[in-house]
Amino acid sequence: MNDKNIAFNTKTIHGGQEPDKAYGAVMPPIYQTSTYAQTTPGGHKGFEYSRSANPTRTALENSLASIEGGEYGLAFSSGLAAIDAVMKLLSPGDEVISTNDLYGGSYRLFTKIFEGFGIRFHFVDMKDAHKVAELVNDNTKLLWVETPTNPMMNIIDLKAMVKIAQEHKLLLAVDNTFATPYLQRPLELGADIVMHSATKYLGGHSDVIMGGLIVKNKELADRLYFIQNASGAVPGPMDSFLVLRGIKTLHVRMQRHCENGAAIAHYLKKHPKVEKVYWPGFEDHPNHEVAKAQMNDFGGMISFVPKGGQFEDAVKIIENLKVFTLAESLGGVESLAGHPASMTHASIPKEEREKSGVVDSLVRLSVGIEDVEDLKNDLEQALSHF
Ligand SMILES: *Cc1c(COP(=O)(O)O)cnc(C)c1O
Repeated sequence: MNDKNIAFNTKTIHGGQEPDKAYGAVMPPIYQTSTYAQTTPGGHKGFEYSRSANPTRTALENSLASIEGGEYGLAFSSGLAAIDAVMKLLSPGDEVISTNDLYGGSYRLFTKIFEGFGIRFHFVDMKDAHKVAELVNDNTKLLWVETPTNPMMNIIDLKAMVKIAQEHKLLLAVDNTFATPYLQRPLELGADIVMHSATKYLGGHSDVIMGGLIVKNKELADRLYFIQNASGAVPGPMDSFLVLRGIKTLHVRMQRHCENGAAIAHYLKKHPKVEKVYWPGFEDHPNHEVAKAQMNDFGGMISFVPKGGQFEDAVKIIENLKVFTLAESLGGVESLAGHPASMTHASIPKEEREKSGVVDSLVRLSVGIEDVEDLKNDLEQALSHF
């Protein structure tokens, strides 16, 4: 379907999709095949080997491009594989500027793998665009942005980052995992690359690991496609099918995630045992105005610090939750609770962690789409345990 003139809520269902060519199947078949019959050497129907392309994956890649307002989508076997592909655009000596409360796995990939290949990373408080601009030098090639950040829910001004990137001819890549294109579409603001851990909201059901990249520029798409095929971190057809199915309900799920997220954020903020709540929808959030300008709503991710809480108190609260499940990850229909200091952010040294606010008692919630009263009641009883 030509999707230039359809709304986002229609793109999630129809964007880039057409009935299957073989039998008209409305849902893309799971083409569980590694290879394709050729009539003569090179005589194939656009598919020759499933690392290079697979019809189920192509259907997903077209959907990704559509919902992000891009031209080209590329699916990877995980979010980190997608980030890995972006870093392979660089050469030894190149420099990257990124945020100092980055997703732990991205930080680990940058510092433990790519620094070893001669790429230099600077981690800075990207809320302050001046600090980013100050670090740019002749070797700088890429800005790697995550907003809202994980787990502190900081908001980075995408327009300010676009300005710096354009001024210095840098690539601007945005990890859009937390916001999803329902809330924010960085390509429309001038970013070059959008990255997703489709494991989270795009898949939406905590049943698959997957990554994605979306770009507008053909030359950049070609370079990334070359890396995708040459390095080979591609998802299988079954997983591609699952994420494509997840995307079809992205807009209705996100609407409920946002509603429940707002209700839980306000509930926690008023709670006598809660010291601080991090959620970009609060008017006193330091970058609330930027969030309002670049996002359509504020999402279902919330972090909070229990009053006077220590490591053990956070653990006690989390262990007593019954509707919220203690688990890594986020963005599924079910509510999850996590403890960044010992889980997602354990790979970041304590000193670095605390500099950005990830204290030992911080609790992170991925608010799901259950009945919100059940979620509140669950938090109420869990908070009574410390
Ligand atoms: C989970 C996550 C990733 C990594 O994705 P995987 O699918 O786990 O490899 C990257 N960025 C953010 C913000 C994430 O939440």
